Amino acid sequence: MTLWTFLAEQPAYFLTLATVLGLLVGSFLNVVVYRLPIMLERQWQREAQEVLGLPLAEHARFDLCLPASRCPHCAHRIRAWENIPVVSYLALRGRCSACKHSISVRYPLVEVACALLSLVVAWHFGASAQALLALPLTWCLLALSLIDADHGVLPDVLVLPTLWLGLIANAFATFVPLSDALWGAVAGYLSLWSVYWLFKIITGKEGMGYGDFKLLALIGAWGGWQVLPLTLMLSSVVGAVIGLCLLRLRRLSVGTAIPFGPYLAIAGWIAVLWGDEIYASYLQLLGF
Ligand SMILES: [Zn+2]
Repeated sequence: MTLWTFLAEQPAYFLTLATVLGLLVGSFLNVVVYRLPIMLERQWQREAQEVLGLPLAEHARFDLCLPASRCPHCAHRIRAWENIPVVSYLALRGRCSACKHSISVRYPLVEVACALLSLVVAWHFGASAQALLALPLTWCLLALSLIDADHGVLPDVLVLPTLWLGLIANAFATFVPLSDALWGAVAGYLSLWSVYWLFKIITGKEGMGYGDFKLLALIGAWGGWQVLPLTLMLSSVVGAVIGLCLLRLRRLSVGTAIPFGPYLAIAGWIAVLWGDEIYASYLQLLGF
């Protein structure tokens, strides 16, 4: 019996494996979300310096692997046992082992969220090629949501490879036929692009960014053009709910620009996983 048939026959093992993997990936996503924007900014600065013929500033190596993680307050180097997802946070009671400064609760929350989302994907698709592909999609959407919420950017370096992966997956009709995926990517990009220009011509303001167009193209590449209307509808619902919560918590005042990416990502993820069921129950509701 191969490992794969074992996992297919024993769903409990597959679900556990996906959850543990989700925890570990969540821990890595914390690093990506923190470091990738800094890496990109340094790269843009370097490029600008080169273009302007300015002397290049020397930086120590800084990427997803190096330098090793340190406490931002006392620069205490985080040891392997202090880096176990969630467990270390609880063991350290949310404080640095050296300076006792509190560690942001966001780190374990991202790890738990990543584990739960991975569990949902594994449970929804079972041990299948769909699950193996939907997991990296989920992780990437989570990272993109956090980076967009923090910095208001959706880095191409994450969006474009994931868009391609969706098209490649659907070349084997993993989620939808390839033609649906291709037109999904095209229509996803063009629909928000048109809204952007219409809004800009009428009001003179920019309502969203090019990253949002590419993100909707990505969602179309995975779920096909059929998921686009649902994604747009759900993203406004998700946006309204989260916006109202933030207003309630006074984390936000009316008129503040909120990045659209996280809402698109959440809505797109729901549409790719449950689009068919949602459409079917909607049609049933209308009496078809
Ligand atoms: Zn410290």
